[in-house]
Amino acid sequence: MKIDFHTHVWNTQLDQVDEFTGRLTELGIDAGVVLPIAPYMTNEAVADLVTKGAGKVIGFASVVPFAETTGIPREDPLATLDHAVNTLGLRGLKLHPLIQGFALNDPGLVPVVSAAGDLGIPVLFHTGPANGRAGRIENGRITLLDDLAIMCPNTVLIAGHADPLGDAPYLARKHKNVYLETSISWSRWGKLIPGLVRQVVEESGPDKILYGTDFSLGRDQRVVDTDAVFESSGLSSDALALVYGGNAVRLLNLS
Ligand SMILES: [Zn+2]
Repeated sequence: MKIDFHTHVWNTQLDQVDEFTGRLTELGIDAGVVLPIAPYMTNEAVADLVTKGAGKVIGFASVVPFAETTGIPREDPLATLDHAVNTLGLRGLKLHPLIQGFALNDPGLVPVVSAAGDLGIPVLFHTGPANGRAGRIENGRITLLDDLAIMCPNTVLIAGHADPLGDAPYLARKHKNVYLETSISWSRWGKLIPGLVRQVVEESGPDKILYGTDFSLGRDQRVVDTDAVFESSGLSSDALALVYGGNAVRLLNLS
């Protein structure tokens, strides 16, 4: 079982779900977690992708937790999340500190992040690089998850693009509720530093790593590059099975 924990279907691609799932199959992936960013994509649109994706699309929700500081029209994030999970059937929450305008350790996140824990779903945060000029890299610094993990001990927190060279392995080892997702950063550094992927997986615990590539249509290379570093990592088949899909199945209550 191979689940890509970090994929996108962009707003302009909502009618290309067959192409998306077809590429996943070609690339050897059984299902992709589709991550939206509120308010740029609706939770309804994601639920629609899940319906059309015939078991290959796992949908996450997104809410705007700090609308009043970003000027984005405010919806109650708790009501939106509850609806997304209990009515639309979405299986996790994606939040983006740089695009949505908050720091990863802002105490104001506690209500919505704790609510996700109560609903039994994990929260995946973008960490690391910023592309747009306005997104402050400092706000997405992975080390800030140390504080959030303490403030929200009953919610699974997933660091997206977790930097294997930074504090990520310590955080995963220190906090029962912190997991690392591998997209972009693990292929970049793993290619340059042989042995890195195995060491970081073993230090963090193989039960704490989630295979992700940031795949979207036209981005096959991201899957190829990520697979290359894991396939050559020297990890045991048991550890690889957890990273590729076992951990995702457990966290998302898939059967
Ligand atoms: Zn992404």
